Amino acid sequence: MNDACYTYSQQLMGTTVSLQLLTENPQAVAAVFNTIKALETRLTVNRPHSEVMSINHAAGKHAVVVSELVFDLIKQAKQASLLPNSSFNLAIGPLVKLWKIGFNGHRVPDAQSINEKRRLIDPNLIELNQHNHSVYLAKKGMEIDLGAIAKGYIADIIKLVLAQHNIHHAIINCGGNVLTIGSSPFTPNQHWQVGLKKPFASATSLLGIIQVQDKSVVTSGIYERYFVQDDQIYHHIINPATGYPLNNELDSITIISTNSLTGDIFSTIMYGLGCKKGLAALNERNSMGAIFVTKDKRIILKNQQHFQFHLLDQSYQLCPAD
Ligand code: AMP
Ligand code: MG
Repeated sequence: MNDACYTYSQQLMGTTVSLQLLTENPQAVAAVFNTIKALETRLTVNRPHSEVMSINHAAGKHAVVVSELVFDLIKQAKQASLLPNSSFNLAIGPLVKLWKIGFNGHRVPDAQSINEKRRLIDPNLIELNQHNHSVYLAKKGMEIDLGAIAKGYIADIIKLVLAQHNIHHAIINCGGNVLTIGSSPFTPNQHWQVGLKKPFASATSLLGIIQVQDKSVVTSGIYERYFVQDDQIYHHIINPATGYPLNNELDSITIISTNSLTGDIFSTIMYGLGCKKGLAALNERNSMGAIFVTKDKRIILKNQQHFQFHLLDQSYQLCPAD
């Protein structure tokens, strides 16, 4: 077993991004962090200007030509938004901005404002022109928000950047979105170890360890960004059908998949489906594994051929789904 490991971290995309390599490679490290910065600059909606913001600023006025890369992500995000029973919605921006969850000024908006914003979140009103890569938001006030999937998309691109530098064993953690590349030299079974966070506990409290090889591990949890008002938790995943945070029996859902964008899309979709419907949907989608963590302290493992899980917190009950 090799135990040399080089870890590099930077604050990017509103989180700590950390990269672990097996050998020192300053060029690769610079390429990775520069790529993340460049992509964040194009995709963010938390700054006045970006490619996505140029689309949002032109809502109801005109189409905006964007780069192939941004167009490709918006196209995939629109397709995911239109899947049957999908609570992933790339047009959710007006509601995210209204609630401000995770930002200064968060509060429960009045029902009328929520209803007004709900009229601006129909993904069908995002018109895509494949020929010139232009995007048009058909109503004034519409806003694309790629916050749920940008990290996954970027992680997949980082894997390609590392491959260009001949790096085929690494792990990149973009604040809850972990992409493991190849096998790990640090464990006897050559699996990478990824911690599953305990909901609403300190950042270092873990429910268990997920072991994977060459997989993405993405978690969507209601404890990541939230506020409490009148004893009620308001978290950052909004139900497009109601305009309020999604409310079900889950504290978190983790998707284990080959591709990190897929994991990011489906962690939101599966959170929205809840346990029963989510587990049924995963019968059809057995290319991904899943870990559901319920508010009543059950951990349900699905499609376990893709990962191993070791429970650390005995106050939780492990429930295999298959
Ligand atoms: P994640 O941390 O990947 O679960 O994504 C959460 C972020 O996705 C939020 O902070 C919002 O920017 C955005 N978001 C919230 N609700 C939705 C939704 N229903 N569909 C797509 N994006 C959403
Ligand atoms: Mg996500």
